[in-house]
Amino acid sequence: MTHRILIVEDTPTIARVQKHIAQKVGYEVDIAQSLAETKELISKHHYFCAVVDFILPDAPQGEAVPCTIAADIPTIVMTGNIDKHTRDTVEKYPIIDYIIKGNKQAYEYLEKQLYRLPRNKHVKVLVVDDSASTRQYICSLLTRHKYQILQAADGLEALKELENTPDISVIITDKEMPNMDGIELCNEIRRIYSNDEKAIIGISGITSSNLSTLFLKNGANDYLYKPFNSEEFYCRLSQNVDMLELIATIKRQANTDYLTKLPNRRYFFEEANKSLKQFKKAKAPAMLAMLDIDHFKAINDTYGHDAGDEVLKGLAVCFNKYFENQLVARLGGEEFAVFFTELTEQEALKRLESFRLFIELNSHEFSQAQIKFTLSIGFSHSETYQIDELLKQADLKLYKAKESGRNKVV
Ligand code: GH3
Ligand code: MG
Ligand code: MG
Ligand code: MG
Repeated sequence: MTHRILIVEDTPTIARVQKHIAQKVGYEVDIAQSLAETKELISKHHYFCAVVDFILPDAPQGEAVPCTIAADIPTIVMTGNIDKHTRDTVEKYPIIDYIIKGNKQAYEYLEKQLYRLPRNKHVKVLVVDDSASTRQYICSLLTRHKYQILQAADGLEALKELENTPDISVIITDKEMPNMDGIELCNEIRRIYSNDEKAIIGISGITSSNLSTLFLKNGANDYLYKPFNSEEFYCRLSQNVDMLELIATIKRQANTDYLTKLPNRRYFFEEANKSLKQFKKAKAPAMLAMLDIDHFKAINDTYGHDAGDEVLKGLAVCFNKYFENQLVARLGGEEFAVFFTELTEQEALKRLESFRLFIELNSHEFSQAQIKFTLSIGFSHSETYQIDELLKQADLKLYKAKESGRNKVV
């Protein structure tokens, strides 16, 4: 879904730069050059957020700011300078941020803010504090930046929330609380979740010098003294969210095959091993298939390597459709594997056979050159709980499929 942004700016060159930035990060852009135009546009459209110039010809005292705020539009203020009057006015309103125009840095910062805002809707933050008013204050700051919020009044409640909502990414916790305090909570969270999965920001009103280190040594990533200002709060929070996202991206890349975007061999081994432990416990047989394109070398030789890549990518899309909910991977080259996590032997075999047939009939649609190809498939079904051993068994079956004429499931 594209989000609509309102840019309020009377200098056309600056408006153009801002529009370019907003479009680059995916927004649909409207520009208002005056307060009057701002009001008109607001009456016509719903805006996800606004970037508002502090001084306009018909709004010399920052009057456009209360206008977008009153319309409930999250607002970023751009100002030429930040003298006392401007700062006081800006701070009166619950804006997202203010940015001082002028240098390149300002526009890079704007881009970062605009990029973050829609993403925050998917970031879950748990606020843990026994004081309802502090919770409310923190929640109001989070709402302004569109974060998803959960609340808990002490450490025990927080742990329950984490169990109920496993994809919470940031925990902001007070120190002094009944039942379980913030330090104990940090310890409990770190017993279960690593720093890569969840960030913890500790908060306390007590200005004891070793409290920050106490929090950090017990697993918190960051620390804030009460009372803190909103700018500091947002900076710390977004740095931690950025860090988590960066780690998630790196992990995803490390587990994904670059060409087909399917999980790679490394991920397959990790996940299959996890599943195998459960299969072993349940004394259920494990099932694995190896699938290999027939005469793929000839495809490369005849049509070129790029066409071969096209074939691999097209085939990968079909894997996702046919083997949804199963563990699929590109093991390497033109070799793929499916680890069946929930089907019966009959269902798995049926699925493999219909996949084989589907490829035989439709493979030409994957490439511009309409290359036809087939698959040979080796299926193993056994009470073997070593992934290497299962793959070996499937590979032997695959060899038999190749030997006995290809384009078949053995
Ligand atoms: P068989 O039916 O016995 O499986 O024969 P085959 O030609 O498919 O098998 P072979 O192992 O001889 O050849 C596999 C070819 O796959 C050789 C290699 O150049 C090609 N290949 C491996 N990775 C890629 C890739 O990422 N892209 C392309 N286009 N080709 C690849
Ligand atoms: Mg407290
Ligand atoms: Mg092959
Ligand atoms: Mg091969």
